[in-house]
Amino acid sequence: AAGAPPMLEVRAVSKRFRGLKALDEVSLTVGRGEIRGIVGPNGSGKTTLFNVVSGFYKASGGRVELDGRAVSGARPYRLSMLGLARTFQNLRLFGEMSVKDNLLVALDRSRTVAIWRYALWPVGVLRQERRLNERADALLERFGLTEFAGAAPGSLPYGIQRRIEIARAMAGSPRLLLLDEPAAGLNGEEVRQLAEIVRSIRDSGVTVVLIEHNMGLVMSLCERVTVLAGGTVIAEGTPDDVVGDPAVIEAYLGD
Ligand code: ADP
Repeated sequence: AAGAPPMLEVRAVSKRFRGLKALDEVSLTVGRGEIRGIVGPNGSGKTTLFNVVSGFYKASGGRVELDGRAVSGARPYRLSMLGLARTFQNLRLFGEMSVKDNLLVALDRSRTVAIWRYALWPVGVLRQERRLNERADALLERFGLTEFAGAAPGSLPYGIQRRIEIARAMAGSPRLLLLDEPAAGLNGEEVRQLAEIVRSIRDSGVTVVLIEHNMGLVMSLCERVTVLAGGTVIAEGTPDDVVGDPAVIEAYLGD
């Protein structure tokens, strides 16, 4: 809508680790409903940027705004209440619990307030359980995981585990979803399915930012790409613009 703030605004964010400047005044703006790619050589600060935006690291300077609201310094759980969800490069699933239980845990955590209210009342607890159960089934269905509901994630192919991780992140009905290298370790067919899933998430009204090394996926999914190198933004534009940018080619040659 006209005049609505962007979903994510990162303003001159820096992050220092002792002497090292992992991020040096990084700024970027992600509009509502966008699928933004973040690319750059190893060590360029991509994951650090996600960690700052999602509240896992405190920035050394600058500010972050989520849907027009200043959220710098907010903790991960608070950011998740404000509509931010993320996945991790190294999957964070309960490997030995069933797939459905993994989703139920995530759904339960996103509904703490309601649980408290219903906890006063045995009938309410049952109703709440039934509702969580229905929502878990809906998530399984939406992400093509129904047939794996009772299996342990650790026993499933890697591509399915990645999908469970995305379903888990979607359990909290986020407005902004950060995906950290979602295609890592996937085969061609799995990457194609991932692209479809990310598009369907965006089409449901969620803004998506993804860190990704698979340039084919970035080219097919993202309208705009932000390129980091050495902790700064060295280019931003359409995928076609940035791959032809001499500064970007230079940065990757040194990788
Ligand atoms: P990318 O995700 O682009 O590969 P990172 O954000 O992981 O890059 O890392 C950027 C730089 O910050 C690297 O030099 C890395 O070693 C450093 N770094 C990242 N996290 C930490 C940390 N927790 N402590 C110290 N240095 C870190």
